[in-house]
Amino acid sequence: MKKISILGATGSIGRNTLDLISRDRDHFKVVGLTGANNIELLAESAIKFNADVVATANDSKFHDLKQMLSGYQIEVCAGINGILEVASQKVDWVMSSIVGSAGLLPGLKALEAGANLALANKESMVAAGPIMKRASEEMGVKLIPVDSEHSAISQVLRGEEKNTLSKIIITASGGAFRNLTAAELIDVTPEQASKHPNWNMGQRITIDSASLFNKALEVIEAKEFFGLESSKIEVLIHPQSLVHAIGCFFDGGMKAHIGPPDMRHAIAYALYEEKRLNLPLEEVDLSKVGTLDFEKPDYLKYPALKLGFDVLEHGGLAGAAFNAAKEEALDNFLDHKLSFLGMADVVSATMDELASKNQLSPELELDAVLEIDSHARSVAKMFVDKF
Ligand code: NAD
Ligand code: MG
Repeated sequence: MKKISILGATGSIGRNTLDLISRDRDHFKVVGLTGANNIELLAESAIKFNADVVATANDSKFHDLKQMLSGYQIEVCAGINGILEVASQKVDWVMSSIVGSAGLLPGLKALEAGANLALANKESMVAAGPIMKRASEEMGVKLIPVDSEHSAISQVLRGEEKNTLSKIIITASGGAFRNLTAAELIDVTPEQASKHPNWNMGQRITIDSASLFNKALEVIEAKEFFGLESSKIEVLIHPQSLVHAIGCFFDGGMKAHIGPPDMRHAIAYALYEEKRLNLPLEEVDLSKVGTLDFEKPDYLKYPALKLGFDVLEHGGLAGAAFNAAKEEALDNFLDHKLSFLGMADVVSATMDELASKNQLSPELELDAVLEIDSHARSVAKMFVDKF
């Protein structure tokens, strides 16, 4: 039996992971589960999957969670230390699916405890990719991409020699507003931005998909996972969300990964160590789809994407600062204190400010990553009032 834990078990990726486990109970032992505010679902999942230990990130929910699990042999913890306690359990495989930079330390802890880490939490790769990779190498464990584009890249590159690759294309659906012009984006609301045309995901990544901040993070994630420089990464808008990545090779050949917009495909590929299982997913019927469209993104409409490529070029602490500024800007957009396009303005101003003060060191140490994360948030907060 493979021992597993899920960090962020109550979210969209966490629930999809548990859905796969529920179809194959004999092969998995669920050790730890974590959540934050939805302790009802956390408790329900812990009981259903007979977990050993659970943690809520929210200290004030500890007693209620404990109450819900009284009578069960399940250890209950809370707060960041509780999450780290779950992450440090001895298991074979951990799903890192906490949203935001809050996923960094737990994911790192899981690697240090010797687990193979399936990484949905792209923010930890963006903020601290080299640190994550070093930890996996030192422990001799795998760091496995779960983001659909990065899972697709790993599938496309399988069996290929890396020095024959001329370019990787990753696709973006264009999100909720793909049919609007830049001018029409001025008045859009968080509620409108939270409706994704193709994917069913958590609210934050759904809004990041509409602004293409998500794709900006993914461009950096692609560099960190596959060692690609910016000239070798291209983003194309592909409204059907069926082609996730394309590898372009020197001999003119291109290999595209096509799959349904269902994260269980990429999660299962990571869970079953690159084996292809018979999954309950809808087969894409290309004759019904008819056309696959691709177009270059317009940086006027999607300024966040341009910022992502700048960060990729910069390296060092720029990724951590960029992600933190983006998280702060998104919080303010959700609170109706910042406009949709204002998010990119705030992030851009924050990055300029930090760069002008030489605060984006090329050296990447964990303490510096955590420090710039909190500093970038306060700088971004200051700029929110100006846009
Ligand atoms: P979600 O909002 O649905 O779930 C987030 C999970 O994180 C929940 O379990 C929540 O309880 C937990 N959480 C929230 N704040 C926390 C904190 N401060 N400390 C500890 N736990 C906390 O998000 P999601 O859509 O499942 O996305 C999770 C991660 O996977 C993100 O990094 C996202 O970018 C990435 N991802 C998601 C998808 C998708 O289809 N949903 C696809 C690719 C990548
Ligand atoms: Mg993705």
